[in-house]
Amino acid sequence: LPIHDAVLGGAAARGDLAALVDGITGQRLSHAQLDAATRRTAAGLAEAGVAPGDVIALHSPNTIAYPVAFYAATRAGATVTTVSSLATPGELAAQLRDSGARWIITVSPFLPTALEAAAAVADTPAPIRSIFTCDRAEGHPSLLDLAASTAPEPTPTIEPATDIAVLPYSSGTTGTAKGVMLTHRNIATNLAQLDAVHRPGEGERIIAVLPFFHIYGLTALMNHPLRGGATVVVLPRFDLEQFLQTLQDHRIQGVYAAPPMVLALAKHPAVDRYDLSSLEYVLSAAAPLDADLAALCARRLGIDAVRQAYGMTELSPATHLVPRSDPAPPPGAVGRLIAGTEMRVVSVDADADTDADGPGAAGKDLPAGEPGELLIRGPQVMRGYFGRRTETDAMIDEEGWLHTGDIGCVDDRGYLHIVDRVKELIKYKGYQVAPAELEAVLLAHPGIADAAVIGVTGADGGEVPKAFVVPAPGSSLTPQQVIDHVAGQVAPYKKVRAVEFLDAVPKSAAGKILRRRLRDLERSRPA
Ligand code: ATP
Ligand code: MG
Repeated sequence: LPIHDAVLGGAAARGDLAALVDGITGQRLSHAQLDAATRRTAAGLAEAGVAPGDVIALHSPNTIAYPVAFYAATRAGATVTTVSSLATPGELAAQLRDSGARWIITVSPFLPTALEAAAAVADTPAPIRSIFTCDRAEGHPSLLDLAASTAPEPTPTIEPATDIAVLPYSSGTTGTAKGVMLTHRNIATNLAQLDAVHRPGEGERIIAVLPFFHIYGLTALMNHPLRGGATVVVLPRFDLEQFLQTLQDHRIQGVYAAPPMVLALAKHPAVDRYDLSSLEYVLSAAAPLDADLAALCARRLGIDAVRQAYGMTELSPATHLVPRSDPAPPPGAVGRLIAGTEMRVVSVDADADTDADGPGAAGKDLPAGEPGELLIRGPQVMRGYFGRRTETDAMIDEEGWLHTGDIGCVDDRGYLHIVDRVKELIKYKGYQVAPAELEAVLLAHPGIADAAVIGVTGADGGEVPKAFVVPAPGSSLTPQQVIDHVAGQVAPYKKVRAVEFLDAVPKSAAGKILRRRLRDLERSRPA
């Protein structure tokens, strides 16, 4: 099914039940209104010239209008390339150029960025034809006005197996962000696969503070709950107090989080000031989550566990999920393989960074319980990277296995545990050290509010682990104490060998540590 039918198929029949609520203003859109608005807006977009196959850049923070813009675009037969709400004009221009987008949908506060980016691509073969706004802004067509169109609803022929519904960009954690071609079928199948494990349904209220532009938010906070008939309470950005207030005021049951949110819920003093008794479950994905931190968070919130899921943009995104029906999942597990998906765990080339992108040196299959690189095959595997044949071939081998670049192992209950990314492993002498393990040890220290670890060049020219640490308010921690704390908990080869204090660990809007920024910081130092 086309993505809008997979999501909104039951919407009209749900009538007045709230689909989306603005967490700040309380403004709401029912499931039936959402369905009707997407149809009328699609007609308006088609009338304005949007044709099947066109690429539309959707550049907006989370708002209740975001899904209207999104499904209206796919109903018009367009491909939506979702843009980070933090994008600078240069970053937006790069994505416009790379994706060949001819239209931008944005919000009035972002217009200066959109205009600057559009100007930057004005002389290319694919200039921007129009900038639409979700709200009203002088001089630009608003989707609200397009929705008044009396033109007939467009009826493009959509081929779900091959037509690209979404072109999200990977987070760019390990290199250049790449446009990931996800077909209507990729997305719709992944939704059906998730349904089999857990789907937020009618009467359930979830909070959407992680961004819709990232595939995790797009699937877990928008497509999936709207398909189930849940109510999605929307916030434009993560502000802890506003987030907690919204959880309380809207009696939120489900939180889809990333590790920084779990960290805040587990450790921040503000949490105690709110009534969070409505919470039933918290799910975390997108980056490694320490088992002890997860347990601390669950205890504090009075829920049985913080459950994880695992996925990547290239996998639409999910392959593993800890079922809600399991009252005591193994600590640290990211989930069980979802239906219709195959996985292999293979040995990793010892000198991983020379071919970390490539399936060329595919290792041999490892016995259960041994960590290795995860390979995935299934209907949710992307069609490829847009305009990057070489990178696609390096990622998906001839038998259709996608090489994730992540290291993990399966336990005796069939649950997957992620160790870290192949590319992040620090090579200390002959050993491999996972930054995620050291970060977990650091976060367990009461004097540490946040931490990130990267490999830096040591005195002898080899790689050594360095910790960037945000001290907890009022703590008088010294670098040597940090080094000693870690040394007391891990094997000697894993010791942290340098420490630097920071005000904040740089993280993406989706909650990933931006190690690139830390590496840049490190490189900017005089030798
Ligand atoms: P890029 O591919 O551009 O370098 P990225 O890999 O961070 O960026 P995403 O597709 O957003 O882009 O993220 C997918 C990655 O996130 C996975 O490959 C994995 O490393 C990590 N990840 C996702 N879920 C989990 C999880 N539950 N635990 C640990 N890591 C996770
Ligand atoms: Mg990736």
